[in-house]
Amino acid sequence: MQTNFSLAQLADPDIAVANQILRSCVHCGFCTATCPTYVLLGDELDSPRGRIYLIKDMLENDRPAGEQEVKHIDRCLSCLSCMTTCPSGVHYMHLVDHARTHIERTYRRPFLDRMLRGLLANLLPRPGWFRLALRGARLARPFAPLVGGMMDGRLRAMLELAPKRVPARSALDRAGVFPAEGERRARVAMLAGCAQRVLDPAINDATIRLLTRLGAEVVVPPAAGCCGSLAHHMGREHDALASVKANVDAWYAETVEGGGEGLDAIVINASGCGTTVKDYGFMLREDPDWCHKAARVSALARDVTEFADAIGMPAPVAPSA
Ligand code: SF4
Ligand code: SF4
Repeated sequence: MQTNFSLAQLADPDIAVANQILRSCVHCGFCTATCPTYVLLGDELDSPRGRIYLIKDMLENDRPAGEQEVKHIDRCLSCLSCMTTCPSGVHYMHLVDHARTHIERTYRRPFLDRMLRGLLANLLPRPGWFRLALRGARLARPFAPLVGGMMDGRLRAMLELAPKRVPARSALDRAGVFPAEGERRARVAMLAGCAQRVLDPAINDATIRLLTRLGAEVVVPPAAGCCGSLAHHMGREHDALASVKANVDAWYAETVEGGGEGLDAIVINASGCGTTVKDYGFMLREDPDWCHKAARVSALARDVTEFADAIGMPAPVAPSA
């Protein structure tokens, strides 16, 4: 795709990256077939290719985001299905992440939207607050019909979707070191996360049990928390980078270079969080104080399935007759 950024625009490292990404798109449209929002809505502007055109136009003309860009970029799920289909290697993720930051900087959303987004950005990354909010939502559920179409029905949907029972905290939901069963074969840090940890604590419990049975000592540093995706996908870069730096500091301190006992991996059991942690090195690439540590953390990040495969799963045990 031809681009027309000025030299002054290209001096901005984020625009230089956007330019490279845009230039790699050959308009083929293969990505549309695997984009869930395009498949559902059938609008080219709700496809990866359509969004790429919107972002190109907005960035090249250096203009504030308008309602059209916000509507179609907000609808992108960041599932990244388009990236697995693209034959040209277009890094859509970095492009849409930059577009969201641009939107957040240049577009003033309606008041209720700003309230709702602020609420989500502050509640979800804080497990204690989120647990309390879910309990409140459960009590408020009978009143859901009263909020009707407020915020396009989103508030009502959130109340109706709140779980009927908020799971209790599990015994393993704590910072600390979980020793390997038998001989220690690896030492890993685990991302305890935020929303998933509240909605289904059994996932972290099962991950710790699996890892320790596979011979890994599991470290959950107290200072590590939300991976930053929630704020990142809202374009709130300041908040996102605060979470990223807290995690980088906490995990780097466990590596040999950081003065710790060493890590073989940082294990993540939520795929969206894993994608973000693997991108920490990119997110902090321009920051001389953080780029090296962030790149090291990203290099250690593994999905739990990748780690289990690398360390080797025991052969399945046939059930006895
Ligand atoms: S990341 Fe966005 S554009 Fe790409 S396939 Fe998913 S919804 Fe579509
Ligand atoms: S598949 Fe890749 S190259 Fe083709 S239109 Fe989509 S993003 Fe562009």
